[in-house]
Amino acid sequence: MNAGVTRDTVELVLAFDRNGAISYGNSSALEKLGYTQEELLSESMCAVFRQEFQKDDGNYIDFCMTDLKDGEETVMYRKNNACFPVMLRIAQDEDGGGYLLAEDIAYRKNTDVRIRQLKEEEEANQKARNEFTANVTHELRTPVNGIKGHVMALSENVQDEEVKKTLDIILYCCDNMSAIINNILDFSKMEAGKFTLEEKEFDFYKMMDQIIATHTVTITKKELQLRVHIDETIPQLMIGDELRVGQILNNLLSNAVKFTAVGQISVDVSKTMQAGDEVELFFMVKDSGIGISMEEQDKLFQSFKQVDASITRRFGGTGLGLSITKQLVEMMNGTIHVESEKGKGSCFSFSVRLRTGQNVDESRDMSETYRNWNHLTGSMEESGHEERLTFGTKENREEIKKRLEKLVLSIELGSWEKAETLTQTIKVLTQDRESDLKRPILQLDMALRKENYEKSIAAYERMKDALAVMFAEMEEVVS
Ligand code: ADP
Repeated sequence: MNAGVTRDTVELVLAFDRNGAISYGNSSALEKLGYTQEELLSESMCAVFRQEFQKDDGNYIDFCMTDLKDGEETVMYRKNNACFPVMLRIAQDEDGGGYLLAEDIAYRKNTDVRIRQLKEEEEANQKARNEFTANVTHELRTPVNGIKGHVMALSENVQDEEVKKTLDIILYCCDNMSAIINNILDFSKMEAGKFTLEEKEFDFYKMMDQIIATHTVTITKKELQLRVHIDETIPQLMIGDELRVGQILNNLLSNAVKFTAVGQISVDVSKTMQAGDEVELFFMVKDSGIGISMEEQDKLFQSFKQVDASITRRFGGTGLGLSITKQLVEMMNGTIHVESEKGKGSCFSFSVRLRTGQNVDESRDMSETYRNWNHLTGSMEESGHEERLTFGTKENREEIKKRLEKLVLSIELGSWEKAETLTQTIKVLTQDRESDLKRPILQLDMALRKENYEKSIAAYERMKDALAVMFAEMEEVVS
């Protein structure tokens, strides 16, 4: 009721006959059109809707209802010839006359225009900001590289250990600065929609070699253990953006190393799908570091967000790395995911889609590649062999086995909700241990959560081998 009353006072109401002569106008019509009651009742509809009825010579043509349409936006004219925009609602009588309600939409129109202007201004500002950031960061690269080059040249001829140390610190600072500059550059390109991926053939194993080698120095310095496992069915030559795949992995690995003081880091890569020349790879980077709480995990992939201000002071960084990483993963048709517990460590996993290359490099000795990694992971293999082939603890191993059996059944029967719940509990039960089950369970969990049952079955098929080994081992222990 109230709404009706309010509208009556705001909307103009006019009644007219079949010839267009106005027979009634409410107070709002009198006020807005600037007529007295008498004046208005002596006017025709043609006078207040001039555009529709005015001829070239300024005279009005005969009023015809079909020229005014219900729901139409048009303009009404005041007595003083000023006009304002309105939206019409019309109710017609049988004899050709009727009622007309006109809502003054000047305010709304002005607001729409203002909003459009503000949006355009904001877009222009954003563009200018992005261009400025891109230019500045680009310009910053040159002097940083210059400093780096000179320090490296100096370092070669310096004997004094103290001076050498100082030069190393300068180099380290330059590398940090380059990383930050590159991140800001990538971010501004992504914001401006100017970021594109390359499509080039590259040697996947060579790339992995280089990435692992880059981090080995710091890992060794910090006396951490490193375990690398790479699925040997991954094709050697791939087509995609090698630099950006490496950037994703480098970012996760450098975070893992940065936030881990004792324990181990593991890198695990597997092939989760191959259809024609398309391949999906699944990467897992796990550490035993400071971990991230549940609430903090929500903010992780947003730009400029570091989970804790004190972390910025202790470890540096801009908080752009993971946001860029996520965007890169998504550009490669993949997803990224984190599992972590404060104080216990973190596990970042992501998938990317690449294409297989055409030519196979026959000259490359693959066994050499695997030997390299075996060498790297040697200390872990020796100390952790037993742990890797089992799962859970002595106390909960039976419990896990029971749930695994139920999980197998649920998947075979297609009871997906049950399978999801079981996967979650198995994940929790096995999370403290380095186990062969961890990777397939995580993949299964991701697929089930996304309700992608084709992928779930594929993940389950891959898990079967690990399960067979574990069940056999348990039988041995029991007998
Ligand atoms: P930056 O670019 O500053 O390194 P990131 O986006 O890579 O920032 O990471 C954001 C924040 O996420 C880090 O400052 C840290 O607080 C948290 N974080 C990322 N990886 C880990 C990890 N492996 N362990 C603990 N905290 C992490």
